[in-house]
Amino acid sequence: MVMVQLGQCNGVLCQYPKLSPLIKRRKERVQRSMSLQAQALHSRTQRIMDSIAVDGEVGGAGGAYSYKALKRLDHIWSSICSPETVSQEPQQVISSIRGVSSHSDLTDKAVDKFDVVVCGGTLGIFIATALSAKGLQVGIVERNILKGREQEWNLSRKELLELVDVGILEEGDIEQAIAVNFNPNRCGFEDKGEIWVKDILNLGVSPVKLIEIMKKRFISLGGVIFEGCSVSSISIYEDASVLQLAEGNILSSRLIIDAMGNFSPVVKQIRRGRKPDGICLVVGSCARGFIDNSTSDIIYSSSSVKKVGDSKVQYFWEAFPAGSGPLDRTTYMFTYVSPQPGSPKLEDLLEDYWDLMPEYQGVSLDNLEILRVIYGIFPTYRDR
Ligand SMILES: Cc1cc2nc3c(=O)[nH]c(=O)nc-3n(C[C@H](O)[C@H](O)[C@H](O)COP(=O)(O)OP(=O)(O)OC[C@H]3O[C@@H](n4cnc5c(N)ncnc54)[C@H](O)[C@@H]3O)c2cc1C
Repeated sequence: MVMVQLGQCNGVLCQYPKLSPLIKRRKERVQRSMSLQAQALHSRTQRIMDSIAVDGEVGGAGGAYSYKALKRLDHIWSSICSPETVSQEPQQVISSIRGVSSHSDLTDKAVDKFDVVVCGGTLGIFIATALSAKGLQVGIVERNILKGREQEWNLSRKELLELVDVGILEEGDIEQAIAVNFNPNRCGFEDKGEIWVKDILNLGVSPVKLIEIMKKRFISLGGVIFEGCSVSSISIYEDASVLQLAEGNILSSRLIIDAMGNFSPVVKQIRRGRKPDGICLVVGSCARGFIDNSTSDIIYSSSSVKKVGDSKVQYFWEAFPAGSGPLDRTTYMFTYVSPQPGSPKLEDLLEDYWDLMPEYQGVSLDNLEILRVIYGIFPTYRDR
């Protein structure tokens, strides 16, 4: 039974139904059951990811942790898998222009002049700082805020010391950026035994700290960072390259370095939108609750090929202690596939990951607190 009562809405007299307690309870029951149904419709991945507060996502690879960003990357991955041979006609970013830049129609506009402009700042800042240290006037164009991701980089000390050798870091800076170190490190394949090594990928380095140190050094050497600016077009004249940013700035430079990562618009143009020959898909998480957490896996495979979607995949694992706490550990599951319709999405792999990772690490998912979910795709090309 619905009782109808006259009520006041925003000062306007209107009619709305007043529910009896019985109907109200029934309505609440229906709402509860609908929300349970909606939850059941969400994948386990979405439920886990939606329960983690995500802040501080950044532009570099592996720097986004939200479910929304996962769906975005899966969408890009699906379009790479589409049946067309060329996944998308690439935008023309670079063009060669006859003559010198002073004859162009840009001469009457304000132009910032550099010896070198590095496009993409995540790893770009290291080469940019090295060139600044040689006395060159260097600019960096970075689409986002130039900031390292929260998720640690796993590296070897030898690799970091190369940055000391080229004079852009001091050993003290390295110690500041190292969040954790661990040994020994395992390589193992199903039925083929294990090899334990030392000092290989045995550091967890904080990209946030390392890039912050580098950023300060770069600026102190006179470097200029165009943050929140995207490369729109590059015109190569006989005497200089002229770079236009989507935000309107115009930069002129003797050399332009592309450090825009796997999805660089320059690389897209050079490859004429060619579909990658293979893709490495990676998913993983950083989670709290691993009692046994002193060694790492550089590469580990505990199972042979299996079918996921229409593809056959073999899963490989990596596992590293994380610097955020003694029980915190990063585990990655990755595989190599051909981009074709029916290839598994990252979300499909994550669904497998939640089943397989606990088995691989000898833990229960119920005893873990997932701190962040990590994912990425790496396109690979055969030389032709
Ligand atoms: C999940 C995951 C885990 C990883 N873990 C490790 C690890 O532990 N150790 C390791 O060494 N490597 C790791 N990597 C590899 C990783 O790719 C590199 O460490 C590093 O991020 C590569 O840096 P990059 O600058 O070459 O490319 P990216 O990280 O992709 O950075 C490209 C930069 O260019 C900017 N950019 C892009 N387009 C434009 C544009 N049009 N205009 C201006 N700027 C633009 C982006 O914002 C970004 O800052 C991991 C990758 C993933 C996906």
